[in-house]
Amino acid sequence: MSDTATENSTTLRFFADWLDAGGARVGQIAILPRGTDGDGRAKYRLCHRDDADEAQNATPATLERYHRADDALEISKSNARGDYRPLKSSPDLRRGWYLALTGAAAVREALDFFHPAMIGSFFRHRDGALRTVPLRQTLERQTGMYRFARNISPAGAQALIREHCDSTRGCLKKILWPVSADEPIASLPPEKLDPAAVAAGEMPLLCNEACHLLVAGARLAAKREAAAASEGDS
Ligand code: SF4
Repeated sequence: MSDTATENSTTLRFFADWLDAGGARVGQIAILPRGTDGDGRAKYRLCHRDDADEAQNATPATLERYHRADDALEISKSNARGDYRPLKSSPDLRRGWYLALTGAAAVREALDFFHPAMIGSFFRHRDGALRTVPLRQTLERQTGMYRFARNISPAGAQALIREHCDSTRGCLKKILWPVSADEPIASLPPEKLDPAAVAAGEMPLLCNEACHLLVAGARLAAKREAAAASEGDS
């Protein structure tokens, strides 16, 4: 078996154990156990957490039914207004659907479509094996037009993180990286930086390195700072 196949099967085993132990939520998605099928395989419904009560009904009248793991791709593509979601962890997953699946492997596959790589990251973090990268290091290694991002000021970096990563309007992930080795994130509440600060049965979404949206935002902010400084000089 290749290393990737071994890691996949290990992650699936961890995930199945997590489900059996009462795992019930990932991001905005609720996972509802629904008994077993004729072969004894566990059945589940996935839905938006705010639709969980309705999804418990035998036939949820107000929710659209899906039944394939890769239906998650379509569900997660756009928000309630129909706008494209460039960040899968933004807190605007649309409501009005449920996904009926059988077996932990299918649930894991669907969650990987909703939140790519998050299950693997969670288990690697739990085992102390998830590498984290400080923001300055991420910015330093940018090339081309994104090189300018590294010029963002300390205050600008803190404001940028608050603007893009705030859980209520930006991103649901818990941040594991600092700005730099001697500069922690000070512009977000402590629970945003604490993977353990989640509800019972919830798997945290983890950010171990700044995403491309934050890097692009850093470039724009650095350019604005440079323009303001040159205006001040003139
Ligand atoms: S840097 Fe991480 S926490 Fe911030 S918006 Fe990107 S993925 Fe979310």
